[in-house]
Amino acid sequence: MKRLQSYVCGGWHLGDGEVATLVNPSTEEPLAEVALAGIDLAATLAFSAEHGGSALRQCKFAERAEMLAELAKVIHSGREELIELAITNGGNTRSDAKFDIDGASFTLAHYAELGAKLGSRTVLADGEAIQIGRTARFSAQHMFSPRRGVAVHINAFNFPAWGLAEKAACALLAGMPVLCKPATATALVAHRLVELFIESGVLPNGALSLLCGSARSLPGLLRGQDVLAFTGSSVTAAILRASDGVVHHSAHLNVEADSLNAAVLGPDVSPDSETGRLFVADVVRDISQKTGQKCTAIRRVFIPANHVDAFAEAISERLDGLVIGNPNTGSHVRMGPLATQQQLDNVLSGIARLAADTDELYGGRGELEDPEGGQPGVGFFVSPVVRMARDPATPVIHREEVFGPVATVCPYDGKAETASDLVALGAGGLVASIYSDDRAFFKAMVSELAPHHGRLYLGSEKIAAQSSGPGTVLPSLLHGGPGRAGGGEELGGLRGVRLYQQRTAIQGDKSILASLLKD
Ligand code: NAP
Repeated sequence: MKRLQSYVCGGWHLGDGEVATLVNPSTEEPLAEVALAGIDLAATLAFSAEHGGSALRQCKFAERAEMLAELAKVIHSGREELIELAITNGGNTRSDAKFDIDGASFTLAHYAELGAKLGSRTVLADGEAIQIGRTARFSAQHMFSPRRGVAVHINAFNFPAWGLAEKAACALLAGMPVLCKPATATALVAHRLVELFIESGVLPNGALSLLCGSARSLPGLLRGQDVLAFTGSSVTAAILRASDGVVHHSAHLNVEADSLNAAVLGPDVSPDSETGRLFVADVVRDISQKTGQKCTAIRRVFIPANHVDAFAEAISERLDGLVIGNPNTGSHVRMGPLATQQQLDNVLSGIARLAADTDELYGGRGELEDPEGGQPGVGFFVSPVVRMARDPATPVIHREEVFGPVATVCPYDGKAETASDLVALGAGGLVASIYSDDRAFFKAMVSELAPHHGRLYLGSEKIAAQSSGPGTVLPSLLHGGPGRAGGGEELGGLRGVRLYQQRTAIQGDKSILASLLKD
């Protein structure tokens, strides 16, 4: 069987020790294996910082941007192969796979455009010069310059291409070399992506490394010039926060973790309105897209009590039309399996915990007996599940992130203050969406919800035709959220580059300061 190699210290290396097997989640057929140990991580970090870091720092922003533009083209040319791998190893439908792969090339292309605009600069100013002496001659200027270590990227299983590209785009543009560690279970896509990048010869030696295998000892090796950008569960995030590299050496940590994203329907929205249809479409898309394995997916659905029955029926009708099964059977399959056996176990036990305190609305406890193109008892399939809250403040609804096609409808009294108090029980989220055509409702909700979220999506009649819903992360907008969501910030245009650069205040003669920033 194919064994995935790590790309470190300028070459491909098989690891050794214990082996993990990657499978097709529709058929459970083994696809490849990964050795979990045997890579010299200290040597990898040293090589990457020494060779990749210095080569990238010698480039101007526009030159690094050109590399990103070329990488986006590389993805585009390997697109069909990568889509096939995402279907086979991730259980993605073709549309889910495109979301990941095209999202990766789009994000790289976006940062290529931003970098091109920075031209021949090598450092960035942060604001204007500040007079600090009796006259303007003695001034100060804040400046950003690339950190000298390695950007270590530990990614979740659900977006192997986009997760790699969105983090790498920011780090490489900033001038930092990248060590990417994809989640083992779905590593085939990330592995092929890195193979294509390396074969293209676009990046300097050491600028991009790939670790296939365990990263358990990696955070302990990091130092103050390194960055650890993590996406995954809050359980793993807590381990990383307590790691030696972070606690004792101040390695910079950014965490993108769980989120119980809320969708709130305003009291003014009727089921047969444009805004009402947008709401239903967004909720159903987030339940089914990527089989609900999306960090931004809507998990809590707040509907004014007088409209709950009509909207619950509309959501159920849409879910009835969903063909669930092996995505290889054809494009009529709109929802594939969960990614792993572990995911299946977690989702079914999460549904059971939700079910103890909520009523059934759709899909029972997630059992799915007859997936399209599947074999009985084989594959990690579940039914979409919608639960109905008996009491919208029930703790389990606001605590349990079931990372699958699962949401809970929570009736509320239609008041903005009630809705915002209920949403805040989620303790911090990546995104919340509000659906209304009433400006006063939006104003009240935004002022209450903004401190608890990295992004707010305002769904209304006027944007319905253009919107791709709250679940799509755009490179121009911030991704991340406070509290439970990890407290991190990624993307958001050039904001995402800052994590990889040190901000320094420089005091001196104003004309000398100006000369430092010149091209
Ligand atoms: P996970 O189990 O935390 O794993 C995430 C990554 O961390 C994997 O690459 C994993 O490697 C690695 N890892 C696990 N333990 C580690 C340790 N002790 N030291 C270093 N690395 C370690 O999460 P997941 O199951 O892949 O992803 C699902 C979760 O991610 C969900 O909770 C979801 O909400 C969250 N998520 C958040 C975002 C966001 O942007 N906020 C996006 C996507 C997913 P192995 O695979 O080799 O174990």
